[in-house]
Amino acid sequence: MRLILLGPPGAGKGTQALRLVAKYGIVQLSTGEMLRAAVKAGTPVGRQVQEIMASGGLCPDDVVVGIIGQRIDEPDARKGFILDGFPRTVPQAEALDRILASRGLKLDAVIELRVDEDALIRRIENRIGEMKARGEKLRDDDNPDVLHKRLIAYREMTAPLIAYYRQRGSLRSVNGMAPIAEVTAAIDQALAATPSAGRAQDVEGKKKSKELSS
Ligand code: AMP
Repeated sequence: MRLILLGPPGAGKGTQALRLVAKYGIVQLSTGEMLRAAVKAGTPVGRQVQEIMASGGLCPDDVVVGIIGQRIDEPDARKGFILDGFPRTVPQAEALDRILASRGLKLDAVIELRVDEDALIRRIENRIGEMKARGEKLRDDDNPDVLHKRLIAYREMTAPLIAYYRQRGSLRSVNGMAPIAEVTAAIDQALAATPSAGRAQDVEGKKKSKELSS
């Protein structure tokens, strides 16, 4: 199964991606995590994007497209993957279409986590406050000013992807403001209604039916 999780920062894409990874035995490909690892390791890409990321801007399309193009070819991605944080611009989505087509692969669904921006800002500010109170280390881009910039980047550059995927018939929207388990259930329902994704291997379900039959 090959999915995209679409939604603004703080919408819960990472949390839902982890649940889908466990359920379907596919890998989560998060460009944000890959870029943070590159910054930490001080690679040429890391040095190129460090300031952009810290300020809440978007990294160049060719950089992230290059990273994803390579990552999709690794053996663990063969069974399927969830793209978390990619694509973030229409040119990235077009590049992804080309990458998949050249490998004979198709997307099963694009899941949009719909959120209320004001509630989202309060949610993230609370989370930052709680992390600070516990003395935990924050990400460079975890502060209200940068968050504001990241939301503007989402609105201007990423939100057009909703129409892009709706036109192609692959968009499934769920309410991202519901409790985590309800969002997960809504995603499961949306995937069950998606023919190709519905046939995908559900590793948890498979394990359970094996246990019952033995
Ligand atoms: P995330 O962890 O997905 O919120 O990403 C953190 C930061 O990494 C973003 O604010 C961007 O600076 C950068 N980034 C991650 N994914 C992309 C992408 N697909 N295109 C451009 N920049 C990205």
